[in-house]
Amino acid sequence: MTTDTLTPEIDIAASHRLAAAVAVPDSPVAAERDALVARIKAGLKRENAVLVAHYYTHEDIQWLAEETGGTVADSLEMARFGRDNPATTLIVAGVRFMGETAKILSPEKRVLMPTLLAECSLDLSCPADQFIPFCDAHPDRTVVVYANTSAEVKARADWVVTSSIATKVVAHLHAKGEKILWAPDKFLGSYIQTTTQADMLIWQGACVVHDEFKAIELDKLRSKHQDAAILVHPESPEDVVAQADVVGSTTALINAVKELPHEKFIVATDNGIFYKMKHAAPEKKLIEAPTGGISATCNSCAHCAWMAMNSLRNLAETLENCNKQKSHNEIHIDESTRAKAYASVNRMIEFVNNT
Ligand code: SF4
Repeated sequence: MTTDTLTPEIDIAASHRLAAAVAVPDSPVAAERDALVARIKAGLKRENAVLVAHYYTHEDIQWLAEETGGTVADSLEMARFGRDNPATTLIVAGVRFMGETAKILSPEKRVLMPTLLAECSLDLSCPADQFIPFCDAHPDRTVVVYANTSAEVKARADWVVTSSIATKVVAHLHAKGEKILWAPDKFLGSYIQTTTQADMLIWQGACVVHDEFKAIELDKLRSKHQDAAILVHPESPEDVVAQADVVGSTTALINAVKELPHEKFIVATDNGIFYKMKHAAPEKKLIEAPTGGISATCNSCAHCAWMAMNSLRNLAETLENCNKQKSHNEIHIDESTRAKAYASVNRMIEFVNNT
């Protein structure tokens, strides 16, 4: 393991404060919901658009994506689906880096988002103007970044990975004798380092949602539900990951609910994922892993406030305003950045295709 740990200090508390200040929209009442759904369906048709949504968005949006021929997926699958779909406009319900990833893979398409204000603390914790000089200072390391980063950071990286493939990619590079510079998630980085024993210099970012899962309270909950399997996303702290029966990406955790024989699961990831888990295995019981309690620093609700900014209202408005106001909620990336970022994302896609 590396002893070279002089990564810049990251103010995670600042991201927690930003997330706490997000104005999360109310859910519409039934009549308004029906009217919004009708407006969105008409807008998708009119704009030759398809809706791609992340697992952590509101269940109304996930339902509508599937109802209208779109998809609900993790960030890479969202981008791949958008690239391969014949629609000329992609409506990406998620956070900004997901819209950017879609644009990186589909430069010829118009990529719109219900809001461009939906951030991600991992992306925020790794600004390109700090990250690029840091990489330049470590030219002996292969730069591997998580998908939760800006287009500029992806463009500087050698590889972009998602949580479903990150360990395999790092193990592959480690086997070739390469040393890694990993960013931005410190917990995922540490999990990969422990699993692969690779020499990794780890950026110190964190996800404000997963950072809140509490090991002491999880241990207590587990003793109350000894028949439950513990499912943990690797963006969670090490002492939470250590209690897991399954550590995996969003897609892996949904598959675990379907495939494991257990009837009960304690789930440590954003609770937006429960919508797909309930569909995958309606008879099984799902319990949120604890985010509060005596060891907690605050009371999170295990739900990303930025993901919650996506609503039926701003989705309908985006579709209706996209031709009235030029570039309304549209993702733009300059071509030189996009092409470099594409090379790093595509390296992962080819790796997945060849393994
Ligand atoms: S849940 Fe965490 S990693 Fe996902 S978008 Fe929100 S802040 Fe980022």
